[in-house]
Amino acid sequence: MNPSPAESELEKQPAPLRFTYASGSRPLEGYEIKRGVGRGGFGEVYFAVSDAGKEVALKLIRRNLDVELRGVTQCLNLKHQNLVALYDIRNDEHDDRWVVMEYVSGESLEDVIDRHPNGMPHDLAMHWFSGIAAGVAYLHDHGIVHRDLKPANIFIDEGIVKIGDYGLSKFISCSRRSGQTESVGTVHYMAPEIANGRYGKEIDTYALGIILYEMLTGHVPFEGESVGEVLMKHLTAEPDLQVLDEPYRDLVRTAMTKDPDTRLQSVSEMLARLPASDNVPRYTPQPQAPPPEVASQPSTRNASTAPTTDEEPILAALRDGWQDLERRYHESPMHPLAKAFLVGIGILLFLASGLEFALIPAALSLGFAYLVYRAVRAIILPAPRPVSKGFPAPANAAGAPTAKYVAAGQTADAPRVPTPEEVHTPPVKQSKRHYARRRRYNYQAQLNEYVAAKPLRERATELLGSMLVSAVIASLLALIGVGFIGDSFSGELYLWLAITATVGSWAVMIPTKLSEGRVEDQAPLRFGLLISGAVVGMVASGAAQALMLELPVSVIAPWEALAGEIFEVGSYDSPVGKAYREGSVPLNLSIATAYFAFLLVILRWWRQAEFTRPDRVSIWSIIACTSAAFLLTFIWWFPQPAGAVLAGIIAFTTQLSSPWMPPSKRRQIAERGVV
Ligand code: ATP
Ligand code: MG
Repeated sequence: MNPSPAESELEKQPAPLRFTYASGSRPLEGYEIKRGVGRGGFGEVYFAVSDAGKEVALKLIRRNLDVELRGVTQCLNLKHQNLVALYDIRNDEHDDRWVVMEYVSGESLEDVIDRHPNGMPHDLAMHWFSGIAAGVAYLHDHGIVHRDLKPANIFIDEGIVKIGDYGLSKFISCSRRSGQTESVGTVHYMAPEIANGRYGKEIDTYALGIILYEMLTGHVPFEGESVGEVLMKHLTAEPDLQVLDEPYRDLVRTAMTKDPDTRLQSVSEMLARLPASDNVPRYTPQPQAPPPEVASQPSTRNASTAPTTDEEPILAALRDGWQDLERRYHESPMHPLAKAFLVGIGILLFLASGLEFALIPAALSLGFAYLVYRAVRAIILPAPRPVSKGFPAPANAAGAPTAKYVAAGQTADAPRVPTPEEVHTPPVKQSKRHYARRRRYNYQAQLNEYVAAKPLRERATELLGSMLVSAVIASLLALIGVGFIGDSFSGELYLWLAITATVGSWAVMIPTKLSEGRVEDQAPLRFGLLISGAVVGMVASGAAQALMLELPVSVIAPWEALAGEIFEVGSYDSPVGKAYREGSVPLNLSIATAYFAFLLVILRWWRQAEFTRPDRVSIWSIIACTSAAFLLTFIWWFPQPAGAVLAGIIAFTTQLSSPWMPPSKRRQIAERGVV
């Protein structure tokens, strides 16, 4: 692959990586940081020494990542010479999570592949491969799917191959949004069925096929300029196997079969097919132990690293279903406007059919029953294993591996003498190329850093500009919005809509701007939105009173809402109920304040105002906001369709008036670091 101009530039001048903690600092009790080692998709890795003198690697997990730590917890007691030993998981005083693990001083398989651009010598490749396969077979027999097998996660230490990052499965999604945070490097090893949310052990077999191909040829089978291009090739393209000799060609072909059910079924089978050679250390497969319970689960995302009892299955299924829907929507080749139109028609048909009056109260009752079920479940199920706050495990935590998983030639107590090729350990671990590759893994982190570094003055100017623009846009959109609310054009209604929509978009933009680049902790931002939502409600009600406006209502009656019944604000005979029956209601302060506060807190509105959002305008978000505003009425009543129309205008206005970084600039920052 030819390096892009930005990449070759990088190789000339590797900029030092910036780490959160400097040498000598002690963010985690009991350990002193010596130096930063590198940065990856999960966070930062440091070389540190414990108070007792043990050298360890500390991995700081970034908080905004949906990293499944239960998987690591499950791996804490695994012992195998081909696995990087995990010592502990700890929380520091800032509640950041750290994984304490064996420090591997040797180089990674990625470095070795880089040194052999035309492929590694067969014997060396087989030495690596048998070690990797032994480690992966051990993981699979313990019900763990690695999910992130790639040369950067495989190391060699004194001639022994070590696999790292097992159990640390990042939440991988193929939706366009999170596609932004995935680097091209990560997707090179991704099995096609991951696109369907299937995460069985077959995905590791697929990755092993790719790694074998890469070791023997010096390049991965599917390359591309973008994440999407590589993913598409995994789904549809056939690898060029002509470059491989037999039996590797057949082995890679069967390991890389697109259908996971017809793929090579086990890693031991893979090893059995490798050519016998005197120089090649062989793995001796032992009779299979009955797989533990977790391994026999159907392959779903949760079956891999987390015990199935830990994750609440209904919620997981709903989330998966929603993500699948979202992905299909994004991937459909139709024009975005046509898609939005179809969804809009669907919603209108649903409303016209009157089905919502039966379905929505039923859904609410189900939701309530679900809450009760969650509470009961929490009481009767044992609590998940707490994250340990203890001292690191003793030095021999890696323990002696059982004979079953030892690749021949790599005995547990007498490591075989490594060849000079294998012990080649550069004094500085990261080569220039290494830096260049690494940097790509920090796509979103780099963007956040860039945005967070913006001076206050620049931020304020940007905010003021967007606020002015949004007033203009909201006023224009309100002209259209009025048509949806009233039967005939009313000046008061128009003014009310324009004012409330303008203030609404400010309510989203201001807290977002204030916390720009620091989205890791969402709680303060959500709180900011709650407060600003309440302000929008006050403005909405104040403006309606000043204009002596009564809002036309046509859709849901106040007594049909949950709050209408419970608090009697909207019961049949209340003033609001009476006004509803007459066709228009004055805007009550408490109704409006609570409604907008809820509305702004339940959705991630800030995503529409972020400088680094993937699309300038996302129709999908506008539909989501409008629908949420409408559905919220069934819980907390608000005159409709005014509420839904307002939410739509606020979403559209916010997106149109918030500054946006075009993809070319984003790519530049992601690749070159902070400029
Ligand atoms: P991913 O997040 O997808 O695993 P990655 O492997 O590039 O990507 P990290 O796992 O965060 O990123 O590792 C960052 C750097 O730290 C890499 O250069 C890696 O070589 C180094 N590293 C990771 N674990 C260890 C370890 N146990 N001992 C020594 N170096 C390590
Ligand atoms: Mg890693």
